[in-house]
Amino acid sequence: MDSLTAGTALILVQCCVALVMAGFYFAAPSEKCTKYWALSGICIAVGVLIAIFSHRAANTLVLLIGSVLVMIGMTYQWQGILAFYKKPPQRLGWYICLLFALLLASMLMFDTTPRQRTPLFSGTVVMLLGLSLHAVWRGQGMPRTFVQALVPGAIVLLLSSHLLKLAIAAIELLGTAQLHRSTLEIVAAYLVPIVGSFLFSIGLPLLYFERIVEENRHLATYDELSKLLNRRAIVIAGERELSLAIRLQRNLTVAFIDIDLFKHFNDEFGHAAGDAVITEVACILTRTCRTIDLVGRYGGEEFLIVLPDVDADDAADIGRRLIEAVRDYRFLGQHQVTISAGLATLPANGNCTWTQLIQRADAALYEAKSQGRDRFCV
Ligand code: GH3
Ligand code: MG
Ligand code: MG
Repeated sequence: MDSLTAGTALILVQCCVALVMAGFYFAAPSEKCTKYWALSGICIAVGVLIAIFSHRAANTLVLLIGSVLVMIGMTYQWQGILAFYKKPPQRLGWYICLLFALLLASMLMFDTTPRQRTPLFSGTVVMLLGLSLHAVWRGQGMPRTFVQALVPGAIVLLLSSHLLKLAIAAIELLGTAQLHRSTLEIVAAYLVPIVGSFLFSIGLPLLYFERIVEENRHLATYDELSKLLNRRAIVIAGERELSLAIRLQRNLTVAFIDIDLFKHFNDEFGHAAGDAVITEVACILTRTCRTIDLVGRYGGEEFLIVLPDVDADDAADIGRRLIEAVRDYRFLGQHQVTISAGLATLPANGNCTWTQLIQRADAALYEAKSQGRDRFCV
């Protein structure tokens, strides 16, 4: 492998990353990270291209521009990571770039050899990679998924190759040992950086994909206001619990909860106060239930709770606890809020469909409302 092959591979990878990231950016321009990563791909690709060209043409000014562009690209990579983890932009990377440009310009003026410039190049790359690694670590902490491990892993790989280059340069400078340059340098100068850059550049869009998938999964499962399971999710989970209860011949109770006279509350105190009450009621219900119970927001001010292994007697206890918990709670603004609950139980050896069970709970809720609200019916 030579510098031309390695450089071409790097350019291709960076061009692909720039294209993908630019596509993401134009699809969702509010996401700053994709813009930075697209710019990073362009700068590194053009920088490497110019560096290869300058090497062939032996032009120092072109070499300076190419090398600085690579560093700018790496700084954009770091800025993108900061933006991805919603951290404010910082300047340190740009100062490192500026210092690199000044030092390289002076070294080029004094006709230094590429070997003499290696410590400056690798040292700067190590600092910029260090910033990226630090930003990833601060953003996510311990990796929890494959992609979250891939990105820091790739940075560590790149860091190690540049640290190795620095070590080789130091050993040569001190003249303490004779190294097998050919093998070591091919690995340190071409192979590891190519693999590392490839994994780093691919890891960033993957990190972005992973977040989109996770956000979509969250949106499809949870209700934005109450943070409870949404209607679709609580119904799916309830149906699963019901079939499990029938198969294992266990009890199962469902509870329909509805905030009393909520339309009146909204009219009197406004929609924002109403929203706050929905959030607070959601918290009370979750706190009052066991961890194995499933609590969801079924509709506007209606909640559905699925209580595995709860028989009709326990259902009455739970109904009472829920009603009292809301009645005794001191809501923001000292409002008095009450709920009504309708509970229906599948006995241990019983059988019914989800729709039938829900209809029974709904009928019990209707009964509680007609009896004057702030109560439950089983
Ligand atoms: P009842 O005791 O019979 O349940 O009376 P109610 O007024 O609570 O019943 P109704 O179904 O007539 O009104 C429900 C109200 O809940 C209507 C709507 O304005 C309000 N609501 C529904 N979703 C939301 C929401 O997300 N936020 C707020 N603030 N209000 C909501
Ligand atoms: Mg209602
Ligand atoms: Mg209501």
